[in-house]
Amino acid sequence: MTKKCEHLSDEKHEVVPKTKGCEECEREYLPTVALRMCLTCGHVGCCDSSIGKHATKHHLETGHPVIKALQESTWRWCYVHEEYY
Ligand SMILES: [Zn+2]
Ligand SMILES: [Zn+2]
Ligand SMILES: [Zn+2]
Repeated sequence: MTKKCEHLSDEKHEVVPKTKGCEECEREYLPTVALRMCLTCGHVGCCDSSIGKHATKHHLETGHPVIKALQESTWRWCYVHEEYY
């Protein structure tokens, strides 16, 4: 059974990154491994290989469902469906 992720269809507008690096890490001077951007609000957070895991924390706090990789590639990840697209 293939379930379709409905969260990706709200991408009518271009979301721009709010910050250059992870917002929280920049404040605390923590190193980041890779960056993820929230496709709902443009929040930039670090990936799960980073100390802060702020992209995941942002999802848990806000419920925003989809992130994408900022630098390296074009995949998107939906937290709700736990799937890459
Ligand atoms: Zn989804
Ligand atoms: Zn971070
Ligand atoms: Zn967000």
